[in-house]
Amino acid sequence: MTFNNALDSIQIYEAGKPIELVVREYGIKASKIVKLASNENPLGASPKAQKAIIKKAKEAHLYPDDSMFELKEKLAKHFNITKNEVIIGAGSDQIIEFCIHAKAHSQTAVLMARITFAMYEIYATQVGARIIKTPSNEHNLKEFLELYQTHKPSIIFLCVPNNPLGECLGREEIFDFLKQIDEECLVVIDGAYQEYASYKDSKKALNPKVLIETFPNAIYLGTFSKAYGLGGMRVGYGIANASIINTLYKLRPPFNITAPSLAGATAALKDQKHIQKTLKNNQAQMLKYEDFAKKQGIAFIPSYTNFITYLLESPLDSTQIADFLLQRGVIIRNLHSYGLNAIRITIGKPEENKRFFQLFSEYLNSKRGE
Ligand SMILES: *Cc1c(COP(=O)(O)O)cnc(C)c1O
Repeated sequence: MTFNNALDSIQIYEAGKPIELVVREYGIKASKIVKLASNENPLGASPKAQKAIIKKAKEAHLYPDDSMFELKEKLAKHFNITKNEVIIGAGSDQIIEFCIHAKAHSQTAVLMARITFAMYEIYATQVGARIIKTPSNEHNLKEFLELYQTHKPSIIFLCVPNNPLGECLGREEIFDFLKQIDEECLVVIDGAYQEYASYKDSKKALNPKVLIETFPNAIYLGTFSKAYGLGGMRVGYGIANASIINTLYKLRPPFNITAPSLAGATAALKDQKHIQKTLKNNQAQMLKYEDFAKKQGIAFIPSYTNFITYLLESPLDSTQIADFLLQRGVIIRNLHSYGLNAIRITIGKPEENKRFFQLFSEYLNSKRGE
């Protein structure tokens, strides 16, 4: 059978390995496995969110509220915007997909950083759009501007901070960049890790309201999967002016968010104490990862997220390290598929991080003894 040939060049997205797989393949007890691979919140979701999710089980036979009244109202209040400036997706992934479908097709180009969130390219390729990437791995707005002027893309993706590298553009440089972009071009600002970035450095903080009021062609994306600890519930959101949101609604499948997910996200958003606790743990533990790298002479990218990327040099090999750790129950992300000899480690709880340091030291010692 032949298929849409735009699909031929798509590499299927490889998600972080789930704990169950390591249990099956390596016979390690689930309780012994440390997962530092998918940038989840190691503290879990707010207990209040967990309760709200369980409570919804009694209503499992009922369709969810498709207007998403409560969560939209809470998001609107949180960001000081109106309800018609927000759309909720099954993860912000789904909003990325809506953006692509709204603006990209085979006659258009889509611009992104060389190393960034893989789904931008996957969705854009699905519709046959031409993918343009900057020469630098990390976001470089000078390169973005040059490529914008040459290729006139219909969409630009800025991942602020960037996954999987962890670097983060500053608010002022983003605003200066946006001033030079035509209103016809949709600029997607993916803020999946903004909670972490703004906690670390206020110059990196983006206010979605100010952003969309200043630039009517910008859309801000947020998610409940990372700092809010609800990756399993699949809830994300897009914030843009009402006419963009209205258009994205044409692409939305009905009931795209389940009732437990809506309830969980609403409760999680209310529990800002849990977010503060999350950010505090992350910051303290991030320092341990930096210290470890410095002591071991490993290069890393200063991170504005809940993960850190170690850049390796031969004879250290990211695939070998990822396998070594996996066989011992520690799951991290190998960035080999991005063309890098690098690993990305999600910042975990203190005892989880200790386990990583212990095993990684073991590996390094064995390499150095060779
Ligand atoms: C995790 C992530 C998302 C989306 O996650 P969802 O679970 O689909 O909300 C989007 N962008 C980046 C950069 C991410 O890391």
